[in-house]
Amino acid sequence: MANTHTALPRVAYFCMEYGLDNRFKAYAGGLGILAGDYMKGAKDYEYPIVGIGIKWKQGYTDQMIDAKGQPYDTYHNYNYEEFLEDTGVTVTVDIRKRPVQCKVWKLDRFGNAPLYLLDTDLPENGEDPWITGQLYGWFGEERIAQEIVLGVGGVRALRALGIDVDVYHFNEGHALFAGFELMREKRVQGATFEEAWTKSREQIVFTTHTPVVQGNESHPIDRLLYMGANMDMTPAQLKKIGGDPFNMTVGGLRLSRKSNAVAQLHGVTANDMWKHVTGRSDIIGITNAIHLPTWVDADMIQTAENGGDLWAAHLKNKRALVQFVKDRTGVELLADNLIIGFSRRAVPYKRSDLIFSKPDIIDPLLRDRKIQIVFSGRAHPLDDTGKAIAANLVAMSKKYPGAVVFLENYDMTIGAALTRGSDVWLNNPRRPKEASGTSGMKAAMNGVLNLSILDGWWPEACEHGVNGWQFGDGFEHADESILDAHDRDALYRVLTQEVLPTYYDHPAKWVDMMRASILGTKEYFGVKRMLEEYYELLYKKG
Ligand SMILES: *Cc1c(COP(=O)(O)O)cnc(C)c1O
Repeated sequence: MANTHTALPRVAYFCMEYGLDNRFKAYAGGLGILAGDYMKGAKDYEYPIVGIGIKWKQGYTDQMIDAKGQPYDTYHNYNYEEFLEDTGVTVTVDIRKRPVQCKVWKLDRFGNAPLYLLDTDLPENGEDPWITGQLYGWFGEERIAQEIVLGVGGVRALRALGIDVDVYHFNEGHALFAGFELMREKRVQGATFEEAWTKSREQIVFTTHTPVVQGNESHPIDRLLYMGANMDMTPAQLKKIGGDPFNMTVGGLRLSRKSNAVAQLHGVTANDMWKHVTGRSDIIGITNAIHLPTWVDADMIQTAENGGDLWAAHLKNKRALVQFVKDRTGVELLADNLIIGFSRRAVPYKRSDLIFSKPDIIDPLLRDRKIQIVFSGRAHPLDDTGKAIAANLVAMSKKYPGAVVFLENYDMTIGAALTRGSDVWLNNPRRPKEASGTSGMKAAMNGVLNLSILDGWWPEACEHGVNGWQFGDGFEHADESILDAHDRDALYRVLTQEVLPTYYDHPAKWVDMMRASILGTKEYFGVKRMLEEYYELLYKKG
């Protein structure tokens, strides 16, 4: 396709994961979904963007539930060659002082701008083919090896492919070593460390994601040296970039000329969180968005626009969800009664069990099936706390048969079914820990009403009682038990006094809210606006 924006900067987007299609499991969660939607938007709107990623042999975990209701992880080898084109290019990186070959594949099969994927699963790699084995698998050294492949290998792949780049966009700190490679290129041309840093910074922009401190990866400097990630830089030089221990987000902030957070509130949170970091780039807010053709039922949008029967259009999606749940679990939900969808990564701050915390209120509503809840969500394979959260939801599905279900192995197919077919999309993280939350956008545009804490993207869209509901009024507290009690009371108040009466007693108002939800979100939270802002606020110089 012709590039209609020839004057625009050419961008290489680096990301560890891409959620493009459920047949291509190269993603774990929200970061990958964002990257996949971004690449599809780049194609739709003809931006000069290429992506750099990894061809994962086993992708992320398939997390299933055993007979006792406990999550367990399974992996299998994927044969992705049918989707990929062999570029004929192989680049070499040094890891633990050994050369590692990275084969470069090209993917443009899912309506996405060209994506180049690096692959170490080659016989000549001796001990190292498994570096690109599992997304977010294993521990520190392997993660660094993967990041050397993505970052250093990625820049070398661009050179070998002859792709000219004006802006290197690091989506999350995983890509940071690409910055080290850009600096190395300048140092071998005679630049000093400081000169190479200053010049490379002009080429790099950075997106920061998690507002949870522990979610920001760091490594002992010794480990970076042992792995060869330092690219001949001294410990003192590494420390100047990322601190000691070396924090990948701090490095990203210091190696970029501009950074962004993924919602406006997240911008405030991130600037506060990293305010102690000297010499870092400014963090602006560019709110995430979604690729509508991937996630939104076009019929819902059209019906909302032309004033047609929105409830009938929704009921088609709701019945499809009821069937989907029946096929997967044997449980038959009632299509006439309220269905709440909730699917999130299983981590404590998302509080997936908040709705169960006052049994005297919720118990009768579930027993009468006035409320039905469909849960899904995976825990990181090494996170036992997260697995206990998922196991608790499975236990609730046994306690409330027919009213609570848990869908194992959350993926794009489940995400799409839930954000189309539910009536309400519930989200109750501990504010302000949710960076953005694109699943709520999918729901909103499908006429599924958000019932959410004012966190992530929701403060930018919410008109309480008009296009969805907020609860908690933006309350924050350092003491989690105070915060949880406050939000629990607020959730029950809005649920019992507003959501349920509207659904059961005022169906015309419900449909008006659905229409307001769709019409009020479909443009601003579409990937077109996000790409325009990336170009205007992040990629463009000056
Ligand atoms: C949309 C989507 C996400 C992102 O969801 P948030 O929890 O809102 O960040 C993650 N995983 C899957 C499978 C999705 O479809």
